[in-house]
This record gives sequence, structure tokens and C-alpha cells, in this order.
Amino acid sequence: MSEDSESAFQNPVAGFGVTFKAMFKKRLTEQYPEQEKVTAPRFHGRHQLNRHPDGLEKCVGCELCAWACPADAIYVEGADNTEEERYSPGERYGRVYQINYARCILCGLCIEACPTRALTMTNEFELADSSRENLIYTKEQLLAGLEETMVDSPHAIYPGMDESDYYRGLVTEAAPGTVQQIPVSKEKKDEEVDA
Ligand code: SF4
Ligand code: SF4
Repeated sequence: MSEDSESAFQNPVAGFGVTFKAMFKKRLTEQYPEQEKVTAPRFHGRHQLNRHPDGLEKCVGCELCAWACPADAIYVEGADNTEEERYSPGERYGRVYQINYARCILCGLCIEACPTRALTMTNEFELADSSRENLIYTKEQLLAGLEETMVDSPHAIYPGMDESDYYRGLVTEAAPGTVQQIPVSKEKKDEEVDA
């Protein structure tokens, strides 16, 4: 038998060998969604906009995350804080913040670019939806929930502290008597949208 005809006979047999080996291997089928999938701790899932321990927002509306995004999935509009309506400890805050999950590839470049650690990623991965509109997550959807030490923004800065004190970790909770301010600019924005 020539070498060529020998290999013509052996190749299909070798192929079945792979099949037979696979038949006796442990099956890796995952019973999702019946059994919840546990991700790796540093899995890149849905984003979150974080808060300081008193509830003010960490985002300063700088747009660095949007510039870093290779998929053009982030839209940010910054605005100035005022003493009557303060969302973050510094001069600026993110007035509009959107992430389009129809575009996002969950690469994490945006969180690397964020200078204030305002933007991080959670382990949540169930983002599928049949509507494009629903895949655009707004600031309200992305903003972290309130913990016990927090008062919802907008509210006054911690008395006697400035922006850098927040980043030094000197503010650990909302000052006693902190109350939420009336979000006038947001109401104005809603009126503009309705008009
Ligand atoms: S994870 Fe990547 S693709 Fe998604 S918003 Fe961030 S930079 Fe853009
Ligand atoms: S999330 Fe971070 S990078 Fe993006 S606008 Fe806010 S502060 Fe800037």
C-alpha cells in the first residue's frame, strides 16, 4: 500500500478517534438560565456610576470615558454645580450620562480612563433586550444605589471639607442634617424635552 493510500485510510479513522475521546469526557453543558452563572470576580459586566460615602456623585462630567471608548458607546454632557444644586463635590458634574449597550463591547477602556473612579463595571451580564431604545442606559439607571450613610444628590458639600478631602477619604458619611436639594435644572431639562 502506498503512503498516500495509507493516509487516506488513516485520516478518517483518526477523526473518529477524536469523536470517541470526546464521548467519554466530562460534559461542560451549563444549565443556564435555570442555574445562575457565577462570573469571575473581575468580570466586565454592566457599568456603575459610583458615589462618595455621603451620596454625592463621583462623576465630574469630563468625558474622558467617552473619548476612550472604541465603540462610541458613551454620551456625556457635563454641567456646573451651584451651591443650591450640587451633585458632586467639585466644580462640574455629569448632567447627562448614557451608555449604549447595543454598541458596548465591555472592553473596560472607559473605566481605565476615568480619573475619579466614578465609572466601574459590575458582574451583571444579563443585558440582552429586543429594543434598541432599552439598550441605552441612562444616568438614573447607571447610578449606584444609596447606602445607609448617604443622602441622594443634589445636596451640600460636607461642611468644612473641599473636593480634595473627598478623594483623601476624609468624608465617610453624610453630615448630620444633610437634606436633598430641589433638582431645579433637571426639572427644566424635562420641561425642555416635553416642549
Ligand atoms: S466597556 Fe469598552 S465599549 Fe463599552 S463603553 Fe466602555 S470603552 Fe466603550
Ligand atoms: S465617568 Fe469618569 S471619565 Fe466619564 S465623565 Fe465621569 S468622571 Fe469623566
